[in-house]
Amino acid sequence: MTARVIDGTAVARRVRERVARGVAGLVAAGGVAPGLATVLVGEDPASEVYVRNKRRLSVEAGMQDLHRHLPGDVDQATAATLVDELAADPAVSGILLQLPTPRHLDSDALIARIPAAKDVDGLTTANAGLLAQGRPGLRPCTPAGVLTLLDEYEVPLQGAEVVVVGRSVLVGKPMAQLLLARHATVTICHSRTRDLPEVCRRADVLVVAAGIPGLVGGDAVKPGATVVDVGIHRGEDGLRGDVEFDAVAEVAGAITPVPGGVGPMTIAMLLANTLTAARVQQGIAD
Ligand code: NAP
Repeated sequence: MTARVIDGTAVARRVRERVARGVAGLVAAGGVAPGLATVLVGEDPASEVYVRNKRRLSVEAGMQDLHRHLPGDVDQATAATLVDELAADPAVSGILLQLPTPRHLDSDALIARIPAAKDVDGLTTANAGLLAQGRPGLRPCTPAGVLTLLDEYEVPLQGAEVVVVGRSVLVGKPMAQLLLARHATVTICHSRTRDLPEVCRRADVLVVAAGIPGLVGGDAVKPGATVVDVGIHRGEDGLRGDVEFDAVAEVAGAITPVPGGVGPMTIAMLLANTLTAARVQQGIAD
């Protein structure tokens, strides 16, 4: 293997430590510890694990755990009322609705009730609009985590050819906009892209968020490129990503592993967003 392995676990730990110092600083300055309201609907085992980790790490960072759990058969009106309550509660700095919600619920309509200032997942149209216009706002956690990883490893972005595979609202689109704001030349690929490997080979930085295991192989990577794998797939041999790790590591200059790459960054950025939201709400600067 020739590529340098980007250690997301270590970077995420440093981000969480920074957040914990920020929380202590906020309290020392007369503020209140940020409160994170995770909202879980139903009993999906994967979602339960994600929410448990978010709660545990928020408490470790000195935040208040204001978790709420709704039964899987809750109706839309009751879920909406809970979001409205959290929106109005001054102890709640951030609201995170764990996705996916059960199918009978309209999660977009629930997210739309979250005030932009408490939207620590960065998924409201208000925050998406602020990002699109290059104005300050809360950014979606996974792409923000990818950007932090690239910065920590001092990957040059200005003028770089960056290819993002995937155009979801959660990952691909905000990722492309964050990179554009950093003056990269950004190409976005999706399921209708003609000759994906050919487009990917242009990239100095390749970010893959397609949700297809092993979609990107060694033939799709320019020698020396930085490759970030956002995909997560649970298989019989454990977790794997959208990138063929072994083959790509022979070609790339740097690569994120799965697990231990982008995954741990998502929660770290959620905590960073919650601290930012609390500071703004309490009028206490960094
Ligand atoms: P998504 O909503 O399913 O979007 C997938 C995107 O990939 C779509 O834009 C789709 O194109 C594109 N795509 C699908 N097949 C393709 C192909 N053959 N060639 C090129 N593009 C293709 O998924 P997502 O929410 O963005 O998540 C992507 C992956 O990241 C998943 O594996 C997910 O589990 C993982 N993820 C990880 C984290 C983390 O914390 N590490 C967080 C979020 C998501 P169309 O638009 O044309 O359909």
